[in-house]
Amino acid sequence: MEQQQFDLVVIGGGPGGYGAALYASSAGMQVALVEKGALGGTCLNRGCIPAKAFLETAAVNRHVQHAAEFGIETGAPSGVSSTVNFGVAQARKQKIVDGIVKGLGSFMKSKKITILDGIGTLGANRTVTVAHPDGSTSTVVGAHVVIATGSVPRTIPGFEPSPGGLGPVMTSDEVLMLDRVPQRVVVIGGGAIGCEFASTFADLGAQVTILEGLPKILPGLDSDVANVVVRSFKKKNIDIKTGVKVLGHTPNEQGGTTVHFGDGDGGAQDLQVDAVVVSIGRRPFADQLGLQDTVVSVSERGFVEVDPYCLTAEPGVYAIGDLINTPALAHVGYAEAILAVKHMLGESPMPVAYDKVPWAIYCHPEVAFAGPSEEAAREAGHDVVVAKHQFRANSRAQILGELDGLVKVIAKKNADGTAGQLLGVHMVGPWVTEQLSGGYLAVNWEATVAEVAEFIQPHPSLTELFGETVLSLTGRSLNA
Ligand code: FAD
Repeated sequence: MEQQQFDLVVIGGGPGGYGAALYASSAGMQVALVEKGALGGTCLNRGCIPAKAFLETAAVNRHVQHAAEFGIETGAPSGVSSTVNFGVAQARKQKIVDGIVKGLGSFMKSKKITILDGIGTLGANRTVTVAHPDGSTSTVVGAHVVIATGSVPRTIPGFEPSPGGLGPVMTSDEVLMLDRVPQRVVVIGGGAIGCEFASTFADLGAQVTILEGLPKILPGLDSDVANVVVRSFKKKNIDIKTGVKVLGHTPNEQGGTTVHFGDGDGGAQDLQVDAVVVSIGRRPFADQLGLQDTVVSVSERGFVEVDPYCLTAEPGVYAIGDLINTPALAHVGYAEAILAVKHMLGESPMPVAYDKVPWAIYCHPEVAFAGPSEEAAREAGHDVVVAKHQFRANSRAQILGELDGLVKVIAKKNADGTAGQLLGVHMVGPWVTEQLSGGYLAVNWEATVAEVAEFIQPHPSLTELFGETVLSLTGRSLNA
């Protein structure tokens, strides 16, 4: 059988895989990409994009409910100002997703990337066999190979979603296909994705409970930031139960179920709900990659093992994205894609600084940060100085009517007690996912407080709060 040769063969068409294909193509490489489903992977089809589309629907509903405060009367004298037609929201989300998937395919073709539809398996000598949907197979060989087959939701025994997503138990995959808002929702898992779903459903009018096994939701977040989220969630009537263990559930004839859980004090409780969203994380998906004829090593937890340049033990084979044990974020996948391609081109790139990547959680209020929390910085042995300022003192936040939140900056303490290099920038509040870039740049540039304090923020803007927080660390300030 004739084997087509490429400079790079990529398996998996999510952000990691298509990122590697596009970046390599822009560097003049001949590229083939194998994808078994839709281009865009989890992020575009079952993750970032559809979840944020629903969050935007939830935000519009929230705004409409507060419209009267801005002098806008929506016609309902009783104060009931909106009803949610989630079928329309689902169709809108799908139109956005389909448009981007189609655009991505056309763009890749315009870059002369060969897209192979099917399941790719990796054999010896960077040979990739593709099992196409029509039953045929083909083989391609890469001078280099990138494997980027991503991840799938983890489930809890007894809480597996019903086939077709028709039952009350769902993972993110099924939630994102809903065309109605369940009245009572329990989210199992208070991590980033769980909190995004909890926030979405609460802002759409559902009664939401979060069940989290650890002592607090959003573990690992700076405590000041996490506390703001908890307080805001309570204002939305989200019931947060921490330190609990789910035991099982008993479906009822109305299509809902009763979830049984231990409350951590030896007691057992029941919760009647219409939907259960299992959001306990994701597992790497190497299941269909073959690999037995290679020396690619897979850890006990299922992650493909790589060196700091994302190179596996198999010569010329790289692994990136959710498949490896690095932060499971689309933009980390892009960064690893660029790193791997530069490395195969012999350009001696800098490895990704995983402790300083930008993190964004799109619940309401939003969270964004780069660098260690105050607790983590102190645990790492840094002597630090910290400043934090509240959005309620920021004029733009008042104009928006979004007062909950703060900006916190953690800096190294100089020998004379003054604030030195910025270590961490942590934000919670309105549009902070759009505001982090200045803080991210400062942390990664290893800039000092004195340097960053020289920069001007536009007025009136939310980013003034970051400027103000850094300025206050110089010992002087305008508004603090
Ligand atoms: P994936 O996106 O999982 O893509 C892997 C691709 O490989 C898939 O298309 C799959 O079909 C294909 N594949 C698998 N095996 C084979 C095979 N053998 N042959 C051919 N093809 C194969 N991240 C963020 O940065 N920001 C967010 O706001 C965000 N929100 C999220 C919200 C939700 C609900 C979820 C679930 C995730 C979210 N993420 C977010 C995480 C983000 O989606 C992932 O980090 C990202 O998609 C990982 O990219 P990847 O390329 O490694 O893998």
